[in-house]
Parts: sequence; C-alpha cells; structure tokens
Amino acid sequence: MPQLEKRSAQEDVKLSFDKAAESLGIQAGIRQMFCEPWRELRVSLPVRMDNGDIEVFIGYRVQHNAARGPYKGGIRFHPHADEDEVRALASLMTWKTALLNIPFGGAKGGVQIDPNSLSTAELNRVTRRYTKSIQHLLGTHRDIPAPDLGTNSQTMAWIMDEYGQSNGYNPAIVTGKPIELGGSLGRDAATGRGALFVLQEFLNDLKINPKKARTVVQGFGNVGSWFSALADANGIPVIAVADHLGGVVSYDGIDINALWDYAKRNGTVAGFTGGEQCSPDEIFSIEADILVPAAIENVITENVAKSLSHKVILEAANHPTTPEADKLLAERGITVLPDILVNGGGVTVSYFEWTQNLQQFSWQEEEVNNELKLRMKAAYNTVAKKVKNSDLTFREAAFEIAVEKVTATAKLRGFV
Ligand code: NAD
Repeated sequence: MPQLEKRSAQEDVKLSFDKAAESLGIQAGIRQMFCEPWRELRVSLPVRMDNGDIEVFIGYRVQHNAARGPYKGGIRFHPHADEDEVRALASLMTWKTALLNIPFGGAKGGVQIDPNSLSTAELNRVTRRYTKSIQHLLGTHRDIPAPDLGTNSQTMAWIMDEYGQSNGYNPAIVTGKPIELGGSLGRDAATGRGALFVLQEFLNDLKINPKKARTVVQGFGNVGSWFSALADANGIPVIAVADHLGGVVSYDGIDINALWDYAKRNGTVAGFTGGEQCSPDEIFSIEADILVPAAIENVITENVAKSLSHKVILEAANHPTTPEADKLLAERGITVLPDILVNGGGVTVSYFEWTQNLQQFSWQEEEVNNELKLRMKAAYNTVAKKVKNSDLTFREAAFEIAVEKVTATAKLRGFV
C-alpha cells in the first residue's frame, strides 16, 4: 500500500483557510499572500550551560500578517517548535486576532528546547540570547511577543529586560509580564477564563444546565489549570484532568483547589489522591459531556475521534484536532468549538495589557474580566449566528469571518 504523506501543521491550518477563501471567492493572489508568512527569521543560539559547556539551540520568529495591526503572538519553548509548527501557529494568530476584533496581526516564536531539562539560570540565558537575536523585528508598534507553551511571565520579564538594555525601558514590548513589571491583572487566567466564557455562552444557547455538563480536561498548565478552577467555581463539574505524566478521575467532581496545590508542589497532576489514577491517553475515554484539550496540538486524531462520546469539544489548546478528526466529528454530530475562538482570551487581555502600558495606566481586575467577557461573548455570538444561518461548522464559520476581515483590511490599506 502506498505510504500516505504526512501533512505539515501549516498545511493543516491552510486547509481551513482554503475552505473559507473558496467560499468567500477570494482571488488567487490574495490567497497566495495569506499562505506565506510575511517575514520569518531562524536564529542559532549558542548558550553557556551551568556545567560550562556551550550548547546551540535553534529559534524562530515568524510574522504572518500585519494588515490589522502590529504582529502579535506567543513564544513557545518546546522540542517540537520547528519552523513548520511556528508558521502554522503564526497564521492561526492572524485569524484569531481578526475574529476577536483585536487590532493586531499574527506572529509566533519558538525555541527548540525542553524547558524542564534546563535550570532557571540556563533558561534565562537562552531567553536573552533569543531576544537579542530577534529584537530588530520587535517593537511596541511592530511585533509584541507573549507567553505560550513552556514559557511564562518570568520569561516575558527576561525578554523585556534584555530588549530594554539595548532599546530603553519599554514594558509594552511584551505582554504576559509579571504585575510588578507592568503586567495586567487578569492576564494569567485570561485564556482559561475566555474559554469558560465561550462554553457558558454555548451552554446557555443550547439551554444545557452547566451543572450537568460533566467536563474532562487535558493539560493542567496555564490554560488547563485556570479553566478547570474557573469552571469548578462556576458550577461546571470537572471530573477528570490529565497532563503528560498521568491523570486523575473522580465522577463526583475533582477538588480543583486541592489539585492546584498538589500540581504546584509536584509539577504534575499524576499521583493526586483525590480520585482514581488514569494514564495521559485515558483522558479521552472518560465518559463526559465536554472535552477540553488544553495541552498540545494534534492530540485528537481520526482514531481518537472515532471513540469520543462527548457532545462538545472546547479547543482551549491551539490546533488540537487534525482535519480528518474534525471532519469525522462533524459527521458524528459532535460540536467542535474552535481554537481561534475559544483560546482568544489570552491575546485579548494581552491587548488590554499593551494598551495599559502605552497609556501608563492600570485597570482594576474586574474591569479586565468584564471587558474580556464582552469581547468573548461578542465573538461567540457572531460565529454562532453564522452557524445558525448556514450549514457551516463553528470552525468554518469562524475562519470565514476572520478571513473576510483580514482581506478587507489588506485591500483598504492598498498594498494588494
Ligand atoms: P503550559 O506549558 O503551561 O501547559 C501545558 C500542559 O500540557 C502541561 O500540563 C503539560 O503537562 C500538558 N501536556 C503536554 N504534553 C501533553 C500530552 N502529550 N498529554 C497530556 N498533557 C500534555 O502551556 P499553556 O500555556 O497552558 O498552553 C496550552 C495550550 O494552549 C497550547 O496549545 C498553547 O498554544 C495554547 N494557548 C495558550 C495561551 C496562553 O495564554 N498560555 C493562549 C492561547 C493558546
């Protein structure tokens, strides 16, 4: 049998884009423009390790499109953060910022490292070398990084400091910073909170009682832990959580506060005694209504999709569902609420942080959360309305809205 060629992550995102572009009748040249990143940089990063050796890491910054505003996108530290993955994630940012109506374009960065295998001092040196190597592409009105998988507010503090050493003090150069350095209240929880707002709107729309929406979550990092805690606090029962080392199940609902403390102490949810243990993969076979992938990409493959019995998949992670799985889920009547809508809360509060930094004024947390809710609800309702008036899936509708917006702006600016 001929070997099936594996598609790249970029090609996966392109499939969603192409479908939208075809349906909107966008001309070939403009389509081609959106299929290529506007600019990309690959850097090699020699770093002195704690034992005195020098190791060379590879990093990327990909700027996909800035028709609607400065480039914006996270930086991930992960062994698989290659140029294909970073390109795919950069283009997702373009569509996400457009869908959420945030005045930014799309970018992404990555360094191919396993952050868990480096000391804090080594991570600091990698981050500074990376920042130095890409800083000529950055700027408060040019390109503004943020945290992603494997990076956090500490990483952003190092980036701000390194950038500042050559360019002067400028907190708006990066978002997701610690509060003490100009970070926004509510940013840490924003992606998980935004995902919860989308789920609440959906449940409300379908008149589903949140107390009956048994939920399982894959990933207990920034997004998964905040989503779980906020869902639990808002009466949505979280009955299973897993990370890359293991998971825990309790059909009566997990005590998320206790799990949070345990995970903080142990760096994993595996071994938590407030429920039965499960393996990382078993999370998909736990009977529940809502499945929340909040870890890495491509975890819901066609094979996994065949066995899922949930009513809804809430894509808190970026690109967790392969196109084959997406098609099968649609055929099986399982609703997929797509990443470019669901996890847009992070970039939305990043936008608030950037705005506060530029104005040198800080908002109360309540104001941040209220404004986030308004924007997530508006984005959900725009997509839901299109779904109701068509035979499109939520992903197809979300891409059509986003692609139409970016195309209109690119035309208005007159560079095409
Ligand atoms: P994180 O590094 O804080 O946490 C990742 C979690 O995923 C960890 O609990 C890890 O154990 C788990 N994980 C990794 N591999 C796994 C596997 N094979 N099986 C099960 N669990 C696994 O990352 P994060 O910031 O929470 O990001 C999670 C996802 O959300 C990513 O796809 C990221 O791109 C996306 N996202 C994050 C933000 C943000 O603000 N942090 C914003 C938008 C999208």
